[in-house]
Formats: sequence, structure tokens, C-alpha cells
Amino acid sequence: MAKNVVSVVRYEEPYQSLKKVVFECGGFDHLPSKARVFIKPNIVFWTRACTFPKWGVITTSRVIENMVILLKEHGIEDITIGEGMAVDPEDTKTPAHAFEYLGYKKLKELYGVKYINIMERPFRKVDLGDGISLKYNQDILESDFLVDIPVLKTQNQTVVSLGIKNLKGVIDIASRKKCHNADSQKDLHFHISKISDPMPPSLTVIDGIFSLERGPGFDGRMKRSNLLVASSDMLSADLVGSRILGHDPSTVGYLVHTANRRGRPLDLSDIEVIGEEIENVTSYHEYDFDYLKNESGEMPKALAKQGLKGIYYRKYDATMCTYCSALNGLILTAIRQAWQGEPWDNIEVLTGKAMEPSPGMKATLLIGQCMYRKNKDHPDIQKMFAAKGCPPDPQDIVDFLNKAGIAVDSALFSQVDQLPGFFMSRYEGNPDFDESFFRIS
Ligand code: SF4
Repeated sequence: MAKNVVSVVRYEEPYQSLKKVVFECGGFDHLPSKARVFIKPNIVFWTRACTFPKWGVITTSRVIENMVILLKEHGIEDITIGEGMAVDPEDTKTPAHAFEYLGYKKLKELYGVKYINIMERPFRKVDLGDGISLKYNQDILESDFLVDIPVLKTQNQTVVSLGIKNLKGVIDIASRKKCHNADSQKDLHFHISKISDPMPPSLTVIDGIFSLERGPGFDGRMKRSNLLVASSDMLSADLVGSRILGHDPSTVGYLVHTANRRGRPLDLSDIEVIGEEIENVTSYHEYDFDYLKNESGEMPKALAKQGLKGIYYRKYDATMCTYCSALNGLILTAIRQAWQGEPWDNIEVLTGKAMEPSPGMKATLLIGQCMYRKNKDHPDIQKMFAAKGCPPDPQDIVDFLNKAGIAVDSALFSQVDQLPGFFMSRYEGNPDFDESFFRIS
């Protein structure tokens, strides 16, 4: 049986490197003439409030523009770039700002491409079997060919986030929340493994000009990796991408589910890699944050090193969805800043959909509607503070942290949009990290 082909190319020349990676894997072999092509970049996050580090977080506009040129040269006229970024779905200004900043408006002027915020477009429910149905953007379902352009990154809940995972950005918000399911059998990995099933024929190009450790967002560690990985088979691209990031696919739940369902091995034995050898381009990327637990508390290692005591902030699990995840880092930052050296009185913080209170805690903070519904009547809670919203209101969180004796700075929460900008200083003056990769000149 013919092997699935994956090409791996070092990024040297903007247009030539992309052309090489696409043609070496036969990426356009199944592209029908006059096809309606949908390009799915990865714009996982955006803010209008500040310039934030995008390297390894967002697909470079350089690769998007070169892909548009390649498609046009191939005779393709009907090209739509579509994304549903993780911002308030009612907020249409932030996605519009992202598209303009990233040069998609210019691509429209230069090449006649369309670009859409999928939150402003219709969705269609698709039954994926095993009792799972998700609502997909209709444009991608009706396209003839998908060009999926994720970023080469690890992810703190799914180990890696590549071609298959990138498609979570084309389902509606309710479906995304459903993916972070508390059912241990039909969990996040199980849902993600099905997400690419209704897609048209596709080409996956993993943009590894920049890669990201501990993604998916701007607080991860960004690297200049200068790689492109491509395949007409999305699973094969992801299996190779996972290996390049230093993670055996057998440790990535959603890759295991996908491969098992399709009768594919995880050891790459049915894949032919063309171009660079995997061993020569592999660079281990951590995916997770270390937490410590002892009798004085439970919290991320960095906070434990600082000496915080009396706070039990459990490590997030895969049931916590993106909107609560975004607040989680902020709450930890606020707690860290509030530490004055005096131990707190056994305060536990619970997140996601599955956690249950520990006995003996003096106060329990429930973050989000899911935690409130699950634990509001739990007998082990002595004193409960709950931010009941979905996603929770940041002001509610400030209030209950203060009531529980953790005097956090409310300004941190009211200026949450500014937070991503603080991470820019890590990359200042480093010529490897060039903002122009995200602009169209
Ligand atoms: S409360 Fe949080 S974890 Fe629950 S559905 Fe809403 S965003 Fe997801």
C-alpha cells in the first residue's frame, strides 16, 4: 500500500520554501480546478488593546500570503480565509481588527480573497457518531478543498496543537465547551479526534517558522524554528509534527484515538517523510506547567518557589475550556502579587467541570458556572465563594478573592486586555522575532 507522504522543509526563502513543501508532498494533487478553497489559519487569540507576542501563537501572514499566491498560480480564484478566534463571540470589532492588522484586507485588495469571522456566519450541526455532534461553520463544510495552516506548537491540555486541533476554531462556542467534556471516556481528546471527520479533501501546512512551548497562547515560550511541514493527510502531518516537537504520538490522546479509528499505526511506519529527516529537526518542546503539592499548599511551581502557603490551587484539567483558561492565568498572577508573606487559611480554588472539594478546607472558591453547579451543595465546603458565570465575571472573582482574604489588585482584572503586552519585553531587541512576519507589506 502506498505510504502517506509528509514533506519537511527548512524555511529559507519565503515563497520558494512554501512551494517546495507543498509540491514535495503532492499537496495540490487532489485540488480540483475551480475549487472553492477555505484557508484556516490559527489566530488563537487577539486583542485591540496592545501589541502582544504572536510568534508561535498565530499563523504568520507571510505563509498565508505565499499560500494565496501559490493557489492563484494554480488557477484557484475562489479563496476564503476563515477563523473563529477565542474572543467574545458578540465582539465583531476585535476579529475585524485582527484581520486588518494581519493584512487579510490587503490580501483581498491584492488577490481578491475573502475573509470571514465565522462567528458572523451560519453554523450547521454535524453528527460525528458515538453520540457526538458539533456545529460547524457552513463555509468550510461547503468548500471543495481545505488548506489548514496551524502553527507548530505544544499545548497545555492536548500536548500538541497542530492540524486537527486547529479545526476547533471552526465550530461554535457551545460545541467548543462540549469538547471539554467531563465524561472520562468522551473527553477533550476524544472530541478533538473526530473534529476533522467532515472536512473536504485537504492540505495541511504546519507553519513552524516560529514554534511555541507551553502553548497555545502568548504566555508560552516562543522559538525561531524555521520549519515547514506539509501533507495531504492531516493525521500524517500531525504525527510528524508531534515527533518534531519531541512528543511520541502515542502520548497524545487525540492522535491515538484518530489513528486507532482509522486503523493507522502511531509509529510513522506508514508515512514517507521527504526532505529533512525528523531526527535532524526535532526539538523538545515542554507542553505543561509544573505544579507542586504539599501540606502547605498546591500551586504552580513558580508560586511555590516564591513561598506562598495556605492556598490550594489545583492544576487545571482538560475540562476547563478556553474562556475559563484565559482567566486562570490572570487569577494566579493576581494571587502571586497579593502574597505578603502571611499564610492564607487553607483556601482551595477549583476550576473546570470535574473537580471536587477537598475535606478540611476553610474556604472554597468555585470558578465558573460548571464548578458552581457541580459543587454548590457539596458537604465538604465550609465556606463557599462562587463566580457563577460562563465565563465568570472578572469582577466577581476579585470580590470573592478579597472576601476570602486574598487582597488582589482589581486593576489587574480591569486592565486584562493590557496583560498580553507585558510579555513583549521577553523578545525585545531579538532579531529572530520580527513582527513583519504578521503584516502584509
Ligand atoms: S464555566 Fe468555564 S469551564 Fe464551564 S463551560 Fe463555561 S467556560 Fe467552560
